[in-house]
Amino acid sequence: RAKADGRGSCRVFEPAMGVQALERRELEFDLRQALLNDEFELHYQPIYNLAEQRFTVCEALVRWRHPRRGLLGPGDFISVAEEMGLIVDIGKLVLKRACLECALWPEDVSVAVNISPLQFRRGDIVTSVAEALEGAALRPSRLELELTESVLLQDVAFTSLTMKLLHMRQVAISLDDFGTGYSSLSYMNELPLSKVKIDRSFLAGIEKANKAMLMLRGLTRLSAELGLSVVIEGVETETQLELITAATQVQMVQGYLFSRPLPGEEVRKILRDEREEASLRPAAMAIN
Ligand code: C2E
Ligand code: MG
Ligand code: MG
Ligand code: MG
Repeated sequence: RAKADGRGSCRVFEPAMGVQALERRELEFDLRQALLNDEFELHYQPIYNLAEQRFTVCEALVRWRHPRRGLLGPGDFISVAEEMGLIVDIGKLVLKRACLECALWPEDVSVAVNISPLQFRRGDIVTSVAEALEGAALRPSRLELELTESVLLQDVAFTSLTMKLLHMRQVAISLDDFGTGYSSLSYMNELPLSKVKIDRSFLAGIEKANKAMLMLRGLTRLSAELGLSVVIEGVETETQLELITAATQVQMVQGYLFSRPLPGEEVRKILRDEREEASLRPAAMAIN
């Protein structure tokens, strides 16, 4: 099109395209380097269990310590890594690191790892999960994999078989960002899912609109009735938490109100302090 428009528009149009293409190539180059130079790191966001009144799971979230651009979040690079196929190797690294980190936590805390669609289909996921668990000497039941609805809809037979293999090995599977993709309600019953994570977009209107609350309550109730445990993502305020606990039976909540994603050392400390407080509690009561 640029050519057909004549020389004038060519001069305006092509340099802009050139910059975009260059930036993309630079990003691809940097991503390959990042893997070689070990520039990826994991932060962990503790997920709060309301019934047990403690953090029972921490979600691993990948970060890229870019040599020039600083710390980048998944939004800056995951989709390109997925298109390049590089996500398979990044994902293996994430699995390995997350399991090693979880092995440092109290026995009753699990780690949740996000698995990209390509990693699930092409990455020999059952083997990489087994290797990561073995490498950390971690009980398989302490690992949860988070899949999105799009994964469940692609090649249902393969997905179902792979999920069953993982389930047989006691690795739990959660449906992430529930409610944002194409509906996979018909599969929810057949696939061995343990948990759904209701996307934070469902929290958006609950302070103001009754309809938003009804949606959140409906999704929570449906999931619970299917025997799934439920996490509500993106809880940021006390008001949201009050509304959620008043209107739903949700067991788990994740969001900035409880903790931001944090480096490993900080999460280790939070989990350790939480344990110490819990063990001090009965003693304190005896004194009163
Ligand atoms: P996700 O799996 O839904 O992870 C939750 C995202 O919500 C995280 O963003 C987290 O920082 C953010 N979040 C948590 N609580 C709150 C809150 O209260 N308010 C708001 N506004 N946001 C909150 P993050 O770390 O930027 O990750 C974005 C997405 O990138 C993740 O969404 C996940 O889909 C993907 N991702 C992260 N790590 C990995 C990874 O290791 N592998 C793959 N394949 N994808 C990953
Ligand atoms: Mg997730
Ligand atoms: Mg999510
Ligand atoms: Mg989300």
